[in-house]
Amino acid sequence: MKKKIAILGSTGSIGTQALQVIEEHSDLYEAYVLTANHQVDKLIAQARKFCPEAVVIADESLYPKLQEALADLPIKVYCGAEALCQVVTEDPVDIVLTALVGFAGLRPTISAIRAHKPIALANKETLVVAGELIDALAAEYNVPILPVDSEHSAIFQCLVGEIGNPIEKILLTASGGPFRTFTKEQLTQVTKEQALKHPNWSMGAKITIDSASMMNKGFEVMEARWLFGVKPEQIEVLVHPQSIIHSAVQFEDGAIKAQLGMPDMRIPIQYAFSYPDRLRSDFPRIDFGLCRQLTFEHPDTEKFRNLALAFEAIRRGGNMPCIINAANEIANAAFLHDEVSFLGMSDVIEQTMQQASFIQKPTFDDYMETDREARRIAQSFIKK
Ligand code: NDP
Ligand code: MG
Repeated sequence: MKKKIAILGSTGSIGTQALQVIEEHSDLYEAYVLTANHQVDKLIAQARKFCPEAVVIADESLYPKLQEALADLPIKVYCGAEALCQVVTEDPVDIVLTALVGFAGLRPTISAIRAHKPIALANKETLVVAGELIDALAAEYNVPILPVDSEHSAIFQCLVGEIGNPIEKILLTASGGPFRTFTKEQLTQVTKEQALKHPNWSMGAKITIDSASMMNKGFEVMEARWLFGVKPEQIEVLVHPQSIIHSAVQFEDGAIKAQLGMPDMRIPIQYAFSYPDRLRSDFPRIDFGLCRQLTFEHPDTEKFRNLALAFEAIRRGGNMPCIINAANEIANAAFLHDEVSFLGMSDVIEQTMQQASFIQKPTFDDYMETDREARRIAQSFIKK
């Protein structure tokens, strides 16, 4: 029996790479659900190629076009945010890959967990916003959350065979992004074109900007604490510009295990699908003759204020990570639309963190309201 995979966000960077993995191992996997937000033509092409059971376009205005284009095929066609939550609960679905971006991933992830579906989690924002709630739900429904983010997949791989051996420390590596060596002065001038050129990874626009500002690494600390049940103080961010060591775990005896590989997201995507097995692949291998240097440095939180703000959100807890996520989504989109400068993003985020209502023990409804309020506040700081 093939594993039936629901891909939320199949038209994105992770989604398309997941489809490559499925195609490569078509004897083992099948794309059961494909979804997109606006890219209807790409979704149509994917649906015609992979013939899934169902497709969803989140943007309801594109539904007629999608339906018409697939009318000759036996594919169920849905639209809207609610359909994303429904479609993951379908009985035959074996695993849900959350490859959509931002807060929009929260509700479908909860819905999938409640339907007892294992989650291959790329959508880190879900754990940033509501990690505690997701952890509790995953435990209640006995649902595994398999990390897709490369660092977290690395940590997960280091932990195989270590049941009962406590983690002393996680070494969470970071490339440092395209502006690692820039001065503060230089950062005042950087453009979105420069920020979109990540040195090692080709990813969607939002995460590429988050990597350039290092907000991504702050979010990954939050993601790691919930995935691996460690205290934030046990996670050390280590800048490693070559992106060869994807992260490491230090155990109580002082031994460190690391996972290495080329920067290629198909490896962690495939491992999330195949765990605990490993499947053969033709992905490029490391040639250590070509990468002689593996270097490390501490992150500069003076220069990368978003990382400092993320640490502050972790320290405050409660709904503060939800606030910072919403503010960052607004600031990030505004930067991509030339409405705020690179460093201006941190101002928007910091002011939103100061003004949004703080809740120490948020419920699900609190998260929804916090997200709305923080977006409203962040938007008010963006000059059009
Ligand atoms: P992309 O922007 O490339 O793709 C996002 C996908 O989600 C697209 O299919 C998009 O549809 C869909 N989408 C966007 N917004 C919505 C919405 N509101 N409702 C429904 N669907 C939506 O992102 P990435 O693939 O780069 O990233 C996906 C997730 O994976 C993010 O959370 C990111 O942090 C995480 N991640 C990504 C990595 C990477 O290498 N790319 C690495 C590690 C983590 P459409 O195409 O129609 O816009
Ligand atoms: Mg990552």
